[in-house]
Amino acid sequence: MTDCLVIGGGLIGMLTARELRLAGAEVRLVERGAAGQEASWAGGGILSPLYPWRYPSPVTALARWSQQAYAGFSSELANETGIDPEWTKNGLLILDDSEKAIARAWAVDVGARLDLIEAGTVRQCEPGLRAPSQEALWMPDVAQIRNPRLLNALKVDLPALGVIVEEHAEITGFVVKNDRVEGVETRHGRITAGRVVVAAGAWSGQLLAGLGYALDVAPVRGQMILFRARPGVVSRIVLSHGHYLVPRCDGRVLAGSTLEYVGFDKTTTEEALAELSRAAIAMVPALAGHEIERHWAGLRPGSPCGVPYIGEHPRVQGLFVNAGHFRNGVVMGPASARLLADILLRRKPVLDPAPYALENRVSMDCGAEALRRRDSHCGFIP
Ligand SMILES: Cc1cc2nc3c(=O)[nH]c(=O)nc-3n(C[C@H](O)[C@H](O)[C@H](O)COP(=O)(O)OP(=O)(O)OC[C@H]3O[C@@H](n4cnc5c(N)ncnc54)[C@H](O)[C@@H]3O)c2cc1C
Repeated sequence: MTDCLVIGGGLIGMLTARELRLAGAEVRLVERGAAGQEASWAGGGILSPLYPWRYPSPVTALARWSQQAYAGFSSELANETGIDPEWTKNGLLILDDSEKAIARAWAVDVGARLDLIEAGTVRQCEPGLRAPSQEALWMPDVAQIRNPRLLNALKVDLPALGVIVEEHAEITGFVVKNDRVEGVETRHGRITAGRVVVAAGAWSGQLLAGLGYALDVAPVRGQMILFRARPGVVSRIVLSHGHYLVPRCDGRVLAGSTLEYVGFDKTTTEEALAELSRAAIAMVPALAGHEIERHWAGLRPGSPCGVPYIGEHPRVQGLFVNAGHFRNGVVMGPASARLLADILLRRKPVLDPAPYALENRVSMDCGAEALRRRDSHCGFIP
């Protein structure tokens, strides 16, 4: 019998498995496909919510905790595995005029560094940028991580720590007796487990629906493109009117992303390709001269106002959830994994768990229109 079984080999599942293992638990992680290939791979790796002032305080709390931990965590993983996740603090430049007042008030409130810089200074720092005529917002402490490398490092680290990782094994349901979880069902039989953690990303709602419980987590597609640029074309993360550029260490530039309510569909579209490249070239005209090397889509685990569910199932003892990180799973991941481990192991939690608890956060309407309305209401869609 497994002590702790984690469902899902995305970043959230792998970080949760790691936290539990480091606390001494016996951990088995079960992934339907290959680990680290879904949303966690598709993401941009920006270690801050974009327009962070638009999010409720529970998102800020998880992001701030993780931001303090990331540099050390990244170098620890690099040392342990030989794979460097390339944590890089190159700052975030925001070119939206309308955000200044609210951004500054938020920064004072949470103690984040945020400056206003002159258009001339922007032009000096980022000569490739079609610079704004007005001041820009500058968040010098914002870092990024190369998420595919982070996932590869975790895939090496987990077995080395003693976590059993089982890929290409789909969980199809739960074994529950007297309101207590006793294991899970797979296509090839039953796995008994004392405690089970659902970290199945956008699929978490579907999986838990089998227990008659509607967790409000549903897919929101994001498309992204990658320019094969050279170092120096752009040096900072740049955000303008919902579009962003992320320069990697080797010069490649990610441009993202779309927000689409199309269910479990990871198809890429010509419209998105045109939109993303147009927006990227509008920010940095020199990108027009660089090949678009890759175009992909991932399914974010959407949740109400982007606040993840972290905690025990309200009706089934021993069944836990760590899911619904929407646009910010990479930045919230370490804090979220730590909090889930604290709750499961009955330790003193690093953050107040109440805002993430599953109780009283149930909505039955997860249709595309309802999701769009919800995110629009939260200010994520203009
Ligand atoms: C285009 C895009 C850009 C993004 N940019 C950023 C960013 O810059 N910064 C940031 O912080 N976040 C970003 N995100 C969001 C972030 O990627 C997600 O919030 C995060 O990756 C969610 O992680 P996860 O582990 O919950 O989900 P996933 O990575 O999707 O992992 C879930 C895993 O569960 C598995 N699974 C599902 N069902 C089962 C089952 N029944 N049995 C076994 N396994 C199962 C899946 O196969 C999958 O591997 C972005 C996302 C996208 C799509």
